[in-house]
Amino acid sequence: MTELLIINGERVAASDGGTFDSINPSTGDVLATVAKATKADIDRAVDSAHAAFEGKAWGGMAPAERGRIMQRMSQALRDRVEELAELESRDNGKPLRQARTDVQVAARYFEFFAGIADKIMGNTIPLGPGYLDYTVREPIGVSAHIVPWNYPIQIGARGVAPALAAGCVVVLKPSSESPMTALRLGEIGLACGLPPGVLNIVPGTGSEAGVALASHPRINQLTFTGSVDVGVAVAKMAAENVVPVVMELGGKSPNIVFADADMDLAAQGVANAIFQNAGQTCSAGSRLLVERKAHGALVDRLAARANSMRVGPGVSDPDMGPIISKRQLETIERYVQVGTAEGAHIAAGGSRPTDASLGRGFYFRPTLLESVSPGMRVAQEEIFGPVLAILDFDDLDEAATIANRSEYGLVSGIWTRDINKAMALASRIKAGQVYINTYGAGGGVELPFGGYKKSGYGREKGLESLASYTQVKNVCIKY
Ligand code: NAD
Repeated sequence: MTELLIINGERVAASDGGTFDSINPSTGDVLATVAKATKADIDRAVDSAHAAFEGKAWGGMAPAERGRIMQRMSQALRDRVEELAELESRDNGKPLRQARTDVQVAARYFEFFAGIADKIMGNTIPLGPGYLDYTVREPIGVSAHIVPWNYPIQIGARGVAPALAAGCVVVLKPSSESPMTALRLGEIGLACGLPPGVLNIVPGTGSEAGVALASHPRINQLTFTGSVDVGVAVAKMAAENVVPVVMELGGKSPNIVFADADMDLAAQGVANAIFQNAGQTCSAGSRLLVERKAHGALVDRLAARANSMRVGPGVSDPDMGPIISKRQLETIERYVQVGTAEGAHIAAGGSRPTDASLGRGFYFRPTLLESVSPGMRVAQEEIFGPVLAILDFDDLDEAATIANRSEYGLVSGIWTRDINKAMALASRIKAGQVYINTYGAGGGVELPFGGYKKSGYGREKGLESLASYTQVKNVCIKY
């Protein structure tokens, strides 16, 4: 049975009947056959979103009522956590418990933004006697969302929830690598009372559906999450129509560990930051900067962890699941070869697992690369796999210099017992988020998230994200 698009509240086939297969990366088998949205389908979806917006089915609804529908969506996600987590795990490969967390975080986005739907306020501006001046924050209109494959339901919810809370209508294009849970989110929205056209889900390829959506003259805003190259292309398309874009791009985030840190805590945090989701995380802590005198103590701990991790099919709930595709697996292998050719030394992993039962999936072992210097490609480029580049430093100045020697600036972690050192470094780091003695915070739904430099612009998560989905109107009255 083919999984259909969701346009104007209905499940529909692609205009040309086309489909694609979504592959389970744990086994290499076809998980589902999915309708492949064409340019004509994107037109239909944008038209239906427009009609929903202009007909005030959503934007004209009392904000508290919008919030109630979103609360129901949050509860429905929680009620279906096991089913959705298993689907996500099969579609993307991530361990079941990580998939469960993703669904719970998606539910939390709807809960957080449901509570804000009736609290999006303007200002009054003092102009002096005889004037009343006020601002209102109006929904921006049709909000287009292009989502990557690595956290499908979590990243989908991260953009959709604030857009809906603001009164916008949405066209969401999930990645063709992992489209399944976005379709379930669309069904949940309809079942919970979203009017037709408010949330359209159009799986398809980047080259057709993605291009058609990003270049569409009737979208009013675009939230793109993905790679830098595609982000640049998408921003150019949107610019042709003067459509504002939120850009959530890649990273090469440093975890910076001083010798005075709690080494067990740091090892746990550093390992989790790179091996979660098999390193396929925009905010992965993919560079470890370690104070030279603590190198041995930390790397021994990390190697012990890496070597003891069980790699296996997502639904068997291993420590680490597969890579999303054969292509991505080969990219990771190439990077390890590049790193060793540049002089890096493999301290753990470095290859596919030898377990024959994993032969049909796309697996790679948790990998540590030592003796990496800041200019090497493995220290500069986003590998998007379970490969940690380890660099040594001698003092805080050097740590700050290496940390900032990157074209990215998404997240960073600092591990030390000295709060003065931590604060001094936090102020020098060029990144959208800095964590001290932790890395990530349970999904960080409440915390503004986004990039410096080539990691992007605009902010998602938290109250900051509402700025992208509203526009300010000033009303000035002379009396
Ligand atoms: P990608 O850029 O290849 O694809 C992202 C999305 O864009 C997909 O839906 C894809 O179909 C679509 N797309 C591809 N080509 C397109 C085109 N020409 N026009 C319009 N749309 C197009 O990224 P990916 O491989 O799916 O995901 C990995 C990348 O995403 C990594 O670089 C990662 O760092 C980044 N990412 C960033 C964040 C963040 O919040 N900053 C989160 C997750 C992933």
